[in-house]
Amino acid sequence: MTAWDDLSAGALQMLENFDELTLAEIAAGAASSAAAIQRIRALHRPVEHRGRTICVECSGWAAGSADNPPAEHPCATIRALGNQEAS
Ligand SMILES: [Zn+2]
Repeated sequence: MTAWDDLSAGALQMLENFDELTLAEIAAGAASSAAAIQRIRALHRPVEHRGRTICVECSGWAAGSADNPPAEHPCATIRALGNQEAS
């Protein structure tokens, strides 16, 4: 006996369809979020600069020089993403 046993066949079918749509939306959302996090990690990637590991994006690093004050990597943006390894 579950909470769903009292539902009509039509209601059960609606619930089943809703769950499939919802799960598809959740899966699509998760994949999209994971891709966005990968793009952020790629943008805020580490680079060796004068003996230090700095963030390419935050330091404005290009062609061996930094346009901004060198920002240690992991920068605030990478730290905000948490400690999960990039996949
Ligand atoms: Zn950064």
